Amino acid sequence: MYASNPSCSLPQLCKALTFSSSCLQFHQPNSLFPSKPSKIIKTPVLITQNNEGVVKIQALIGSGFLPAIEEKPSKNIKTHVQNNGRVVKIEALKGSGFLSAIGNAIEEEEEYRKARAEVNRKGADLGGYSVEGLSVGGHETCVIVPELKSAFDIGRCPPKAVHQNFLFITHAHLDHIGGLPMYLATRGLYNLKPPTVFVPPCIKDDVEKLIDIHRVLGQVELNLELVALDIGETYEMRNDLVVRPFKTHHVIPSQGYVIYSVRKKLKKQYMHLNGKQIEKLKKSGVEITDTILSPDVAFTGDTTSDFFLDPRSADALRANVLITEATFLNEDFSVEHARERGHTHIFEIMAHAKWIRNKTLLLTHFSPRYHIEDIRQAVSKLQPKVSAKVIPLTEGFKSMHA
Ligand SMILES: [Zn+2]
Ligand SMILES: [Zn+2]
Repeated sequence: MYASNPSCSLPQLCKALTFSSSCLQFHQPNSLFPSKPSKIIKTPVLITQNNEGVVKIQALIGSGFLPAIEEKPSKNIKTHVQNNGRVVKIEALKGSGFLSAIGNAIEEEEEYRKARAEVNRKGADLGGYSVEGLSVGGHETCVIVPELKSAFDIGRCPPKAVHQNFLFITHAHLDHIGGLPMYLATRGLYNLKPPTVFVPPCIKDDVEKLIDIHRVLGQVELNLELVALDIGETYEMRNDLVVRPFKTHHVIPSQGYVIYSVRKKLKKQYMHLNGKQIEKLKKSGVEITDTILSPDVAFTGDTTSDFFLDPRSADALRANVLITEATFLNEDFSVEHARERGHTHIFEIMAHAKWIRNKTLLLTHFSPRYHIEDIRQAVSKLQPKVSAKVIPLTEGFKSMHA
């Protein structure tokens, strides 16, 4: 039940609340809502009351309701709801921490929503690429490189991702794949051409089933080219761009991707020739060039730091831009804790710094427990040479001073 939904059918809910066109209003004074003015909630909160007057409150946070909280009518509980745009604060008097917990959670979600709304307008210039996106551990990851028409993972579906023709999925955790059906549906809505979606081969059949279920449920066409691309295989995205997956180390099957630019370079043995001689050779059918692949952008998705030590990561570790994760940032959680969960601790980035040859390192997937200041501080503690090339993706995180 959403607060803005005017089609309330629960009698016990309607007893406590009445709906206006865009919000919920409390009209019926009782021991829980005793103050004179009507209180307006413009955020999804479901409040029900049974015949004994026990009030049950559930706040919608993200994609689900918080566990129900029940409060008996009491003079100690005064529910104050602040009507301030979309921000709603529910406070409780001494003796009840439950209601303020809901209020805080709602405010946090509101901050998170605001930060997400900023994503469309932000983009960091990384080695000539205007990389943008959002990555909050466990919530959602989607990193977009518009110059390559590419998005990496799609935990939810930021509007900008819809316009990327290539989508690279690293693994099937929902914070990395949850937005796939919306991505396909929205592209269909805009009549955009079917995208090419890359997945690890071992999940291809299940991803197909998932899309089929959405086709049946929504009675919609969801068009795409689904490519199971294995480690060691190469896919030509354009005549000057190819992609290759590489192994990553997570708690479920996973892989990263390196996008390479393709250049032709005159073979060494013909370098001394002049233009006319080269032209003549070419016309005679001799292959006069070598094909050079330069790793441009690499994306790991979730992985332990074993990725840094794997010889198969060599190209990812020398790409112009490496986008990788650092879920944990300080002593509150150990390296072992990170490893057990299939993630990287920033201390391990420090330990493996010598393997990082990239010009730029975009760090992502920080745990949502951190503030922007925690992230900046952790990056500043890296070796100066590493720190200088690290850019943390902080969209979606709050400042502790906000
Ligand atoms: Zn994740
Ligand atoms: Zn994961």
